[in-house]
This record gives sequence, structure tokens and C-alpha cells, in this order.
Amino acid sequence: MRLEDLPIRDDLRGRSPYGAPQIDVPVRLNTNENPYGPSASLVADLAEAVRRDSGELNRYPDRDAVALRQDLADYLGHGLTVDRVWAANGSNEVLQQILQAFGGPGRAALGFEPSYSMHPIITTGASTEWIAGAREDDFGIDPEKAVAAIAEHRPSVVFLTSPNNPTGTALDPAVIARIVEAAPGMVIVDEAYFEFARSGTPSALTLLPDNPRLVVTRTMSKAFAMAGTRLGYLAAHPAVIEALLLVRLPYHLSTLTQAAARVALAHRAELLGTVDALRAERDATVGWLRARGLEVADSDANFVLFGRFPDRHAVWRGMLERGVLIREVGPPGWLRVSIGTAEEMAAFRAALEGTL
Ligand code: PMP
Repeated sequence: MRLEDLPIRDDLRGRSPYGAPQIDVPVRLNTNENPYGPSASLVADLAEAVRRDSGELNRYPDRDAVALRQDLADYLGHGLTVDRVWAANGSNEVLQQILQAFGGPGRAALGFEPSYSMHPIITTGASTEWIAGAREDDFGIDPEKAVAAIAEHRPSVVFLTSPNNPTGTALDPAVIARIVEAAPGMVIVDEAYFEFARSGTPSALTLLPDNPRLVVTRTMSKAFAMAGTRLGYLAAHPAVIEALLLVRLPYHLSTLTQAAARVALAHRAELLGTVDALRAERDATVGWLRARGLEVADSDANFVLFGRFPDRHAVWRGMLERGVLIREVGPPGWLRVSIGTAEEMAAFRAALEGTL
């Protein structure tokens, strides 16, 4: 029995699953995780929260995760309240719920590539047509070309990623505002990497009060160093959250997930304390790669896209043989490295010098 022999949906035939390799090597710089694990005191508080809530695990969790959403609203600021914030298992699930509510058969979603590979996978998984718009040579988005693409395709959902994965490019809120104005449907600004943006970069959250069809998504997987917790969230108009309640599974966020995320938010000074070090390491990595004569995309995220290599797979493999896992992603010829600790970045530099 092969997959093709099953009565699978026609629109899933021939598709590939999300596939960042999970290879056990000494230096893993391939999925944009935060390299810093929780401190002993945070681990103790997480364990205590799990112990406290475990006595109630015969009961379903708070279905609407109100206390957690309140904590997230407090963290985001911008005058946000619990009815304007929603959470799910990673921002991937948040995005899936948005596509379930606002996409669907006969509808289309538009994104600007290169960008996050899960956007088209989530879109097609929700039986929605994927339309690949293009970014410019500097990986920015030309607002007039974007408006023309929107006029041509009339998408129900537009994806904007800022800072963008895998390029690191942040968008000017004026470009986002122009696209929201032109879009007939929902506009998602995926801000998974927002906390790493260079200082002064404004969040799309500033545009929310005037734009009820705008949704800003965030995650605790990156800056918060909580990828294993699986907690993503969004801010939007309360009516958008009402729409998501129609498609979410009841009790989708486990008691333990809610508890762990709330402890992490209470420790946010410690967790977000790693952001400055990662930004400095990122900027040093950009400088080092450029000094070696390589092309490097400007980055507002915790990773750097660099190239271009006539045979990028050979470079990726050479790095892996030296114990450093990076990501073969982006336009042909480019590779992406996630920013690790100072020691990991030294290993990255040594491995690249050995490979090239
Ligand atoms: N958006 C972007 C742009 C990402 O790069 C990622 C993770 N690689 C996600 C969303 C999903 O993150 P998570 O589901 O862990 O919140």
C-alpha cells in the first residue's frame, strides 16, 4: 500500500510535508530556535506549576484560556485586552485556524516568496488556493506590485511576514497599511521574529485600531525560548476571535501548556534577556560573512541568509560533516544559519572556513 493508492484528497496528491531535518549533531542552527535553555529557577517554577495543576488533570482545561490570554495582552501592550488576543499550539496552529475560518474551497491566499514554507502548506491543507507573489531583489515587497497582485487575484487572505523567514527582512508599516487598504479580505502579519528586530522597528500592532481585517501573529518559540511549549498567539479585532471560536477544537490548549506559558510570561525579563545577545551575535555574523566576500541579506531576525553558492547542497553537507547543521532554504544558492551561542557561532565560522 502506497500513499498514492489511498483515497486521499486530490489537492494533496504529490505534495511534500514540512521537512526541516531533525539530525542529532553537536551544533544545531537550522530551525531558528533560541539556543538558551531555561534557568534552574525557571525550571523549578515550571515544575511547581505542573505539580500544582496535575491534581486537576481529570478535568478539561479552561477552553478559552482566559488567564493566559490576559497575560499575553499585558505583554503585548498597545491597549490590547483579552477579547483581542487568541492563543493556540504554536503560531502554526493560529495560522491554520485563520485559514480554516477565512479560507476554504473557491478562495485563495496570497503570499510573497521567498517566505515561510508553512504558509502555502497550511493554505492548501485548508483547501485554499495558494498564490505565490514575488519579493524584490532586496527581499522587500513593492507596495504597488502587491496592490496589483491583490487586484488581480482578490485573495481572501494575504500573508505578510515581518521580519521575513528565511530572509530576515522587516516591512515598513506604511507598506503593510497600503496592502491592508487594498486587500478585500484578511491580512495576516506574521511577526514570529518581531522581538529580534533592530530597535525602532514598529510592530504592525500599531495598525490594529484602524484595521479590523488585520491579524498580527506572534509566538513564544523564538525570542521567548519556549519552542517545546508550543504556544503561539495573535492580536486582532474581537470579531476575528469570534470567527476563530467557530473552527478551533474544544480544549485545544492543554492545562499544562497554559500553565507553562503563563510561567514563561512571568519570567519574561529573563527569557527576553537573551534577545540582546542574539542580536549582537547576528550583527557580528552578518559582518563576518560580508568580510569574507559573501552576499548577506540584512536581518531583523535571529537568523541570517547568506550565499550565493553554485552548489549550496555541497556547502550544507560540508558543514554537516563538521558537526554544524544549517538550513538549505530560500532562493537557489542561498543558505540560512540560525543564531546560536557565541561558542556555536565560532563553530559555524570554523566549519564554513573548512568547507569553502
Ligand atoms: N511563522 C514563521 C515566520 C516561522 O518561521 C515559524 C517557525 N519557524 C512559525 C511561524 C511557527 O512557529 P511556531 O508554530 O513554533 O509558533
